[in-house]
Amino acid sequence: MNYTWATATDVGHVRQMNEDSVFPEGDGRAAGPALVAVADGMGGATAGHVASRVALAAATTRADGAAAATLVERGNDAVLRAVAEDGSLSGMGTTLTLGIFHPEGRLELAHVGDTRAYLFRGGELDQITSDHTLVAEMVAEGRLTPAQAETHPRRHLLTRVVGMAGTEVDTYDVELRPGDRVLLCSDGLTGMVPDHAIARILHEASDPAEAAWSLVEAANAAGGHDNTTVAVVDVDP
Ligand code: MN
Repeated sequence: MNYTWATATDVGHVRQMNEDSVFPEGDGRAAGPALVAVADGMGGATAGHVASRVALAAATTRADGAAAATLVERGNDAVLRAVAEDGSLSGMGTTLTLGIFHPEGRLELAHVGDTRAYLFRGGELDQITSDHTLVAEMVAEGRLTPAQAETHPRRHLLTRVVGMAGTEVDTYDVELRPGDRVLLCSDGLTGMVPDHAIARILHEASDPAEAAWSLVEAANAAGGHDNTTVAVVDVDP
């Protein structure tokens, strides 16, 4: 398989700082393995910015063939170490959703938090990951409808985060096909732009860069309440 990717990130219209991080920062093309990841940090002052960067750096630095979940665990260890060394960072954490696009077409995903991975195939958009949020758990238990979850005052409350000792990492394997388009995105996109509008943009964009920047523009046009970060990876036909 050949993969073509683009990433885009923007502070939005409300926040002072962009606490999201994305890897890689540039666009590219490769036969794989290709590593792509999005992290959305949180914490007081500048700590969220630190958490997402520390986690992504630790998860993406050593390309030693480790499993995606192992890379996320390295990110978790690095955030915990940074807090142990500097008490002012106490309480920081980050989401981390990381994909390894393998040469034979397998997408290996590891995921903690509410940064999502989607598969766009044959005009249909499917969310691969499940959010680690209080409201997603309440929806799964039938205590909340998806529509109620969208406006719930505590909808951003995470139940798992990178930067928590022993945090559990979800993993997914997807067999990709030529023509597939994969999206990783922070909640700055999904909190502002409904899935049907995301699907339309993915359908209309001719390449990953156009898709990535159109998604960021859509989040900002809807208000840009949060930082928005997206990575779009095409499986070349
Ligand atoms: Mn966010």
